[in-house]
Amino acid sequence: IIEVTNMRKSFGKLEVLKDVSFRIAPSEVVAVIGPSGSGKSTMLRSLAHLEEVNGGSIRIGNEELVHNGVYPSGGKIKEITSRMGMVFQHFNLFPHLTVRANLELAPKLMKKYSAEEIRSKASSLLEKVGLQDKGDVYPSNLSGGQKQRVAIARALMMSPEIMLFDEPTSALDPELTGEVLQVMRQLADEQMTMIVVTHEMSFAREVADRVMFMADGEFIESGTPEQLFGSPQHERTKAFLNRVL
Ligand code: ATP
Ligand code: MG
Repeated sequence: IIEVTNMRKSFGKLEVLKDVSFRIAPSEVVAVIGPSGSGKSTMLRSLAHLEEVNGGSIRIGNEELVHNGVYPSGGKIKEITSRMGMVFQHFNLFPHLTVRANLELAPKLMKKYSAEEIRSKASSLLEKVGLQDKGDVYPSNLSGGQKQRVAIARALMMSPEIMLFDEPTSALDPELTGEVLQVMRQLADEQMTMIVVTHEMSFAREVADRVMFMADGEFIESGTPEQLFGSPQHERTKAFLNRVL
């Protein structure tokens, strides 16, 4: 469902992604691990068109978000990126909107669903993440774990085929990470295609179908959790795992 070919991205002279290629199959859950500054967020942001790459191609389903570094016109890009939901480390909820209004904003703007559909979808997603009684509350009155569950529900409002997570639990107190991982685990069980940049090695081990290790703007190796954690092939993977496990 995702095919990235020779993706390159630089910020000025700094080459952050060097010739990155990978494929993600439908319903696959892929964990991306790697040291700080290796380009994990940039890779994810490029998929969601929050960054524009300098070269390479990104195919989502049958459509190309970018072909050999060239982007199509605006409408097409929106159409492709609306098939992906993204959740960040720092929730990024709108503080002046209630939880329910946070969920309903984007679908209302996109006019993809009727007001009635939007309302009932918001209710069922709030229930799904265990926050059915928090619809009228403002984000400032929620715990970090609750905020992140709202952010996940919000990302699901547009019925994405793919969910991208960038360290969704690393801003949370340890006792709050479980409730967020639980929601993600449930999504994975429901066959959502997911790319999860994470420092949670236990989540990668238990939930991911595949783990990809990134260092210095390149994917060094990828494999099942058993392969990558159990018998890493590359020295850099071994060194990284020795530090974090
Ligand atoms: P972390 O684990 O700390 O989140 P990361 O693997 O997500 O790291 P990125 O955020 O993708 O790494 O950053 C990769 C490199 O690109 C870093 O050297 C970073 O400083 C640089 N970088 C990222 N965004 C920008 C930007 N907007 N302008 C300039 N440099 C940037
Ligand atoms: Mg990052």
